[in-house]
Amino acid sequence: MLRAEIINKLAQNPSFDIVIIGGGATGLGAALDAVTRGYSTLLIEAADFGKGTSSRSTKLVHGGVRYLAQGNIKLVREALHERGRLLKNAAHVTSVQPFVVPVYSLWDKLFYGIGLMVYDVLSGNLSLGKTKWLNKKRTKALLPGIEEKKLVGGVLYYDGQFNDSRLCIDLATTAIAKGAILLNYCRVVGFQKTNGKITGLTCKDQLQNKQYTIQAKSVINATGVFTDAILALDESDRDKLVSPSQGIHLVVHKHFFPGDHAMMIPKTDDGRVFFAVPWLDKIVLGTTDTAIDTIAEEPKALKEEIEFVINHFNRYAAATIQRSDILSVFAGLRPLVKVKGAASTALLSRDHTLLISNSGLVTITGGKWTTYRKMGQDAIDNAIFSAKLEKKAACITKELQIGDDKLKEERVKEIEKADGDKAALLVAGYSIRLSEIVYAVRFELAVTVEDFLARRTRLLFLDARLSQHIAPFVAEIMAHEMGMSHQWVEKQVESFNLLAQQYLVA
Ligand SMILES: Cc1cc2nc3c(=O)[nH]c(=O)nc-3n(C[C@H](O)[C@H](O)[C@H](O)COP(=O)(O)OP(=O)(O)OC[C@H]3O[C@@H](n4cnc5c(N)ncnc54)[C@H](O)[C@@H]3O)c2cc1C
Repeated sequence: MLRAEIINKLAQNPSFDIVIIGGGATGLGAALDAVTRGYSTLLIEAADFGKGTSSRSTKLVHGGVRYLAQGNIKLVREALHERGRLLKNAAHVTSVQPFVVPVYSLWDKLFYGIGLMVYDVLSGNLSLGKTKWLNKKRTKALLPGIEEKKLVGGVLYYDGQFNDSRLCIDLATTAIAKGAILLNYCRVVGFQKTNGKITGLTCKDQLQNKQYTIQAKSVINATGVFTDAILALDESDRDKLVSPSQGIHLVVHKHFFPGDHAMMIPKTDDGRVFFAVPWLDKIVLGTTDTAIDTIAEEPKALKEEIEFVINHFNRYAAATIQRSDILSVFAGLRPLVKVKGAASTALLSRDHTLLISNSGLVTITGGKWTTYRKMGQDAIDNAIFSAKLEKKAACITKELQIGDDKLKEERVKEIEKADGDKAALLVAGYSIRLSEIVYAVRFELAVTVEDFLARRTRLLFLDARLSQHIAPFVAEIMAHEMGMSHQWVEKQVESFNLLAQQYLVA
């Protein structure tokens, strides 16, 4: 098993140029950047790669249309360039997604049309398609699920879409292939310092209950909404940096909103953007923006948030959904950086923030998935500067391929050659083969049923009840591959069922 090999390597040589805490988009981007510049790199993730916010996004690779309305041209242009790069570098988990903004007055048609044309122009030669005005008939043709009442027309524009947690896993395996050490289920619990400067850290393997002491020339804190907890390990009495805001999504059957085009409503009651986006043969609806105090590893959608999303969808769609139509609900926490005096989280900056503590700890947070590569680059530039690391190769991630689909297919075929039964589909209606369970254990550091059903595949997010039904089957195959007992299978199924309960709307 890959994890055992990684722990062995770590125990043999626990000394690194750069250690990154957090295996979400930001940390993984930093790890890939560091190792491809030639630094010895370790990434430590407390749960699984992408377990945090990075598996709970709206699945858009975008420049952020709403920031354009705020006049933040620089932020939008940078994100649009990152959008173009990501679509090229990870083509197997990303795609171009056409969107239609339905409009209900000629003024709105003009306003959103011009805004979205500027959005397209800002993407330069990385444009994904021309923005166009649509009449009512064409709008209805592209959005067959739209409610026609009072509809005047629409605006067609293009953005990107992706499978967020699959990208996390591909970033992790690419960084490992380049020579980095990445370990999931290992929590950072303290720092070692010499003359006030961080020289290492202590982390605890959550599965083996074993502690490791690591030496590091530079440490990067990329823990999203957990940023302040890591800062508190370094300095006990500092002001909080992150203000978490929860966003939820509902997943429903495609027949409630048929067609290939996504719908974007630029302004909801609380001033947010509302999306209905086709994703993996379902429709994802969202999102919300709810300031919260408690930072949980598994955030829970509030009743009001679910009502908000249902009501908004029903207002704009011809079909009507009810709570019982929801296949899955997932909640994520935005790591927004606090602005003194800001009244609402919808106004806080989505740009990223970087700070270097007196101890040398580099903290990077905020931003969005789309800009993870740039965030990684900035984090490594600052780590090199603050720890005075020897200059090595230049950053190459702008054009670096992420993931290796061909190699995956070869390995999956190999597994099926050894055991023909593994070529069968896991469940009808999803193109997931049994061999992929074995593959995820052998090559993608999957160690729990949740790792496979939530992040290596997306069944938990697409249909929570179905994922509960097949969990025992997945557990059996994983146990066989990992040499685990029957008790392990029972425990895995029990804890997965409990988790999946949260993704179901009662
Ligand atoms: C509702 C919602 C919708 C969004 N939609 C989009 C979108 O469509 N497009 C887009 O570009 N962006 C989107 N975003 C933003 C994007 O998802 C986030 O900016 C991004 O995922 C943050 O990644 P991160 O790595 O900083 O944090 P995380 O993904 O949360 O990763 C932090 C990791 O640190 C780990 N950790 C914490 N403490 C420790 C410790 N002590 N030791 C080791 N590890 C630790 C956690 O387990 C976690 O995995 C959305 C965000 C939300 C909430």
